[in-house]
Amino acid sequence: MSPELVFQTHLNEIFVVRVAGNVLGQECLGSLCYAVSRFATLKLVVVLAHTNCGAVTEAVDIYLQPSRYMDMATAFSLRCIEDQILVAVRVAALTVESVYGLRATKWPGFRAALLELAVVLNAAWSAYCLRQELRHHFPDLEVVFGDYDLLSGHVRLPLSMPGEITEEEQGLFIPPESAEGFRQLACRICNGELIRSLFVHSCPRPAQGKLPKYQWNRLFDR
Ligand SMILES: [Zn+2]
Repeated sequence: MSPELVFQTHLNEIFVVRVAGNVLGQECLGSLCYAVSRFATLKLVVVLAHTNCGAVTEAVDIYLQPSRYMDMATAFSLRCIEDQILVAVRVAALTVESVYGLRATKWPGFRAALLELAVVLNAAWSAYCLRQELRHHFPDLEVVFGDYDLLSGHVRLPLSMPGEITEEEQGLFIPPESAEGFRQLACRICNGELIRSLFVHSCPRPAQGKLPKYQWNRLFDR
């Protein structure tokens, strides 16, 4: 996945820090702080995840089969990445359980649902943490998150089925500000058609509110 192609920018028009699983470490934060303080034109930090992320898939599989964790126990660097992602996976699992019931953990689509949900929650969490870190020195800087869908080529929230992706769910989003905000985001995605399609059941449709979308297109107007 090339961020320049995703956002249709020229080479060197965006400052890219690539990190497996979108996790935030000191070196990553340092690189971003450097870029923000060095380039006056830098107005937006984007945490861009992607569907079917290998690092998140590994965290999901560790969650589902805890014995796999032992394979990583001696690999400190890999464990640092997976430990961070496991937060999103755990919240994804709790959300699926609260929306569909404990029985959902036995359904065949559970692993796929965890992956879809954990990818976007993990990106939102990293954006939230980055925002907290950068807010003090760079109060005007926006930090947003997005999830690049490898199938459709859209940056979007995993709400609708491929081919039915709405304008509202496309683009970049402002991360929640609180634990309750994360709970609402997780529930909203969990109740979306995409996750529902992974499960065979019937649940009442919940009321849907507006999501805090970031109007990023204006940044790249020429
Ligand atoms: Zn990845």
